[in-house]
Amino acid sequence: MNVLIVEDEARIAAFIERGLRAEGFGVQVAPDGELGYALATSEDVDLVLLDLLLPGMSGEQLLERLRAVRPQVPVIVLTAKDAVEDRVRNLNNGADDYVTKPFSFAELLARVQARLRSMDQQSAVILDVGGVELDLRSHTARYEGREVSLTSREFGLLETFLRHPDQVLSQVQLMDRVWGYDFEPGSNVVEVYVGYLRRKFDKQLIETVRGAGYRFRSSP
Ligand code: CA
Repeated sequence: MNVLIVEDEARIAAFIERGLRAEGFGVQVAPDGELGYALATSEDVDLVLLDLLLPGMSGEQLLERLRAVRPQVPVIVLTAKDAVEDRVRNLNNGADDYVTKPFSFAELLARVQARLRSMDQQSAVILDVGGVELDLRSHTARYEGREVSLTSREFGLLETFLRHPDQVLSQVQLMDRVWGYDFEPGSNVVEVYVGYLRRKFDKQLIETVRGAGYRFRSSP
């Protein structure tokens, strides 16, 4: 697995690189947005760690351009901005996760591994997270061994959560992914359907993150 670090602070880039190499990852480092973008568009890169404040092209610009050509590659944003709104905005802009500086290497590694695992699951036929099992071919769901009957919207919503375990998904993200254009602006449909899923599975499974959205917990 190859990780690209786009980070202009050499000390932080070296800290991450050292840790990832010790874990057996291949690592490339880009100290600015232009080089970062050029490297990130290569198919050899399996995951991108992206600092937002970069000389030249900013992390946000890089992310937007990268998403146009490689929508699938996981991107974890490294950010000193710890306001919830900034985080959610970055996730809406196509980041898969974020880590707030300063972070420990263990924390970063856990996020990297979680994203690479969920990439593995993208091509899987069965998603199996937090005791919930979804069979994407037969559209059936099981929870702790029992079969749970779901409508197609409930299934779509749960599938979205299972593809992003432990990640905060905003209402808008969930509406875009599950309902597409087919929803009223300002609708509380996400809240209603999260309620349905909680009733059918477990109250604890989906957590409300105030002002940000919802998070599916891989270990309730
Ligand atoms: Ca920086």
